[in-house]
Amino acid sequence: MKISLKRNRFAGLHMPALAPPLATVALLAVAFLLLPSRAPAMSVGELVFDPAEPRPGDIVRVVTRLPMKVHAGTLTVEGRTFKGFETGGLMTTYIGIDLGVRPGLKDVRWRMGAETGAYGVRVVDREFGKESLKVASSYTDLDPKTIKRVTAEKIRLDKLWKQSTEERYWSKSFVRPAVGPGGSPFGLRRFFNGQARSPHSGIDIKANRGSEVYASNSGMVVVADDLFFTGNTVVIDHGLGLYTIYAHLSKIEVEEGVMVERAQLLGLVGATGRVTGPHLHWAAKLGGARVDPLGLPGLVF
Ligand SMILES: [Zn+2]
Repeated sequence: MKISLKRNRFAGLHMPALAPPLATVALLAVAFLLLPSRAPAMSVGELVFDPAEPRPGDIVRVVTRLPMKVHAGTLTVEGRTFKGFETGGLMTTYIGIDLGVRPGLKDVRWRMGAETGAYGVRVVDREFGKESLKVASSYTDLDPKTIKRVTAEKIRLDKLWKQSTEERYWSKSFVRPAVGPGGSPFGLRRFFNGQARSPHSGIDIKANRGSEVYASNSGMVVVADDLFFTGNTVVIDHGLGLYTIYAHLSKIEVEEGVMVERAQLLGLVGATGRVTGPHLHWAAKLGGARVDPLGLPGLVF
């Protein structure tokens, strides 16, 4: 009993002795983070890319200094224009490098107020695997009625990807939309029943049929509909040309035109559309570019 008390006192006496150095280290760490950077100030039109050498399918964070009294601007690369937003005198813009972009030096043209210019970024090569899948022949040999339907759906979506809502609906990091291990990765060159088709423009999450699908971030539901290839599909507009897509759902729990919060229930995992089994197909579009959703800002997968 006595020994136990002594030990407790011993520990109690040593804790305060250990605490000050720890507290000092923590304070120093905070102070270091708050210190202004010694790097020379970024000039207007000097673009800093993260990642510095993006690959096809990457979402790239670009930061530059805004001219005085200018609060927004745009960046244009490979024919796609992306809107930036102000973050304390700087402009942050997320740009999408489409899955099909060829590697090489690319011109990024910027416009901020009346000022314009260009800056270069190198897109580096990325290897994508291949995948052969067997699906019902009705998904590869389309009848005339289905071709008409697929064409109308493509026109509807292509029109949507070209729209860029002025407002940015999100401010927090993106979250994973379903629980489950990863399936087919982004960018796979695909063959359905032996026929070459579009590459895999999203990722698959092997979630169980009926498990919940959540909004990766806040935004507006712009599609909540049954589409031929992607089955029951929800599309969220996050603003500034960024969209996330949730496909093959067994049930949709939201309606078009409503605002959703981050992690709000969108529907349930299913196997509708062109699939080989139940899973969540999750994709993202940025300025119309097909980008890997795993690159969404702040996402930890
Ligand atoms: Zn998929």
